[in-house]
Amino acid sequence: MSHDAIVIGGGIIGCSTAWHLARRGARVTVLEREARVGLGSTARSTAIVRQRYSHEAAMALALEGLREWERWSDRVPPGDQGKRASLRNCGVLFLLPAGEPSTPQLARSMRQVGIVAEQLDRDALAQRFPTLQFDADESVEGLYEPEGGYVDAPEQATRDVARAAAAAGANIVTGARVREVLTEWRDGGLSVRGVRTDANELLEAPTVINCAGPHSGWVNLVARSPLALQTAPLRQVVLHATATSQAERLAALPVIADLRHGYYLRPDPERLRIGAVWPEDETEWIAEADAHEPTAERAVLQRRLEAARKRVPWLEPDQIMGLVGLYDVTVQDWYPIVDRTDTRGYFVAIGTSGAWFKAAPVIGWLASEVVTANVSGRNTDAQPLELTLPNTGYRFPMSLFSRRRTPVPLAYGGGVLG
Ligand SMILES: Cc1cc2nc3c(=O)[nH]c(=O)nc-3n(C[C@H](O)[C@H](O)[C@H](O)COP(=O)(O)OP(=O)(O)OC[C@H]3O[C@@H](n4cnc5c(N)ncnc54)[C@H](O)[C@@H]3O)c2cc1C
Repeated sequence: MSHDAIVIGGGIIGCSTAWHLARRGARVTVLEREARVGLGSTARSTAIVRQRYSHEAAMALALEGLREWERWSDRVPPGDQGKRASLRNCGVLFLLPAGEPSTPQLARSMRQVGIVAEQLDRDALAQRFPTLQFDADESVEGLYEPEGGYVDAPEQATRDVARAAAAAGANIVTGARVREVLTEWRDGGLSVRGVRTDANELLEAPTVINCAGPHSGWVNLVARSPLALQTAPLRQVVLHATATSQAERLAALPVIADLRHGYYLRPDPERLRIGAVWPEDETEWIAEADAHEPTAERAVLQRRLEAARKRVPWLEPDQIMGLVGLYDVTVQDWYPIVDRTDTRGYFVAIGTSGAWFKAAPVIGWLASEVVTANVSGRNTDAQPLELTLPNTGYRFPMSLFSRRRTPVPLAYGGGVLG
């Protein structure tokens, strides 16, 4: 079988990229090393869909992602028993120290982009969310996104995209680990030739796209194409629990990102999640994605629960399990890299930095645009793309996701809130 493009990695980004390439008629094959798609960091994602970012274009991309999830049942064919992932739009509430000068500016920028964003003072918060605890003299304010929420099942969402990609003609191969990216010197430069799998199978293609999530840095190295902006795996411990006995009370809660107490909460009774939001909790860099401690430390889970209970004192999970996931972080600025590289035919859609499940189907589309433009003869280094996001009409500058960008300033001291 001949291929126009090979995608390394069947996470939500790789499957989305393949989907959009296949829709354009490309013969595309996804190689996923696990037995099913979506078992990498996507499976462990909290899948919160929020729009508060420090950069306007990132806000717009997050909004575009939200609109995609709202239309998900029209976008992808149903799976077994009619199942698809779905958005629970319970709202997203950011809790911030009161009086931060950046908050009104942020709310204004969000509204300019079309995001519904409300600023709430302490009393308005207490009235709106009566089951949350706000101390009488607490210096807190809220930035509330009523349209936000979370996607219930990120692994299912990946299967949805893989199904849509297959229906468009993509070939999704699981249990196929890429161990080599083949390159050769040609016409004074490096060109990609294809990949070799662990089973020693050689697949030739003029285009190879690295969508390997936390393994992306390693794949760039074996492709002899290290980037100036680097990606590295960052270990995350998240409290994962059930709390079905509190389903009714949880249903009245928004997603909470509490920067005062240092946690986020996904109020899903079946898959409750409590994770970290402070940069000082995000320091566990891993040298090699396959070599990390896979068990969540009890003490860390306890710390997450205690942080959340400062705001939700009645929270009593039925069963606490905990999980460990890896972010694929662009270490310099926590923004994705969706770009061509200096190796002809070799592309990347990586560095989603723990924050871009929310717009993954859109990022796949952006990646397909970058690939198509370059394959058609446009050098996007010389002529960067600006793409109109289909749902919102926002003109998205691909320079934000360039491998050659000056790192985006770290607004919150670095970290997942970007
Ligand atoms: C704990 C956690 C919480 C998160 N919470 C949120 C959130 O609330 N909101 C949000 O928007 N985002 C969130 N994210 C981020 C989001 O989940 C990721 O941005 C997204 O899932 C990345 O998808 P991916 O396809 O790039 O990576 P992955 O899902 O990791 O996919 C990469 C795939 O490549 C495969 N692979 C790797 N190497 C090879 C190889 N050599 N050959 C073949 N296959 C290979 C892997 O098996 C994997 O399936 C979170 C992430 C984590 C870990």
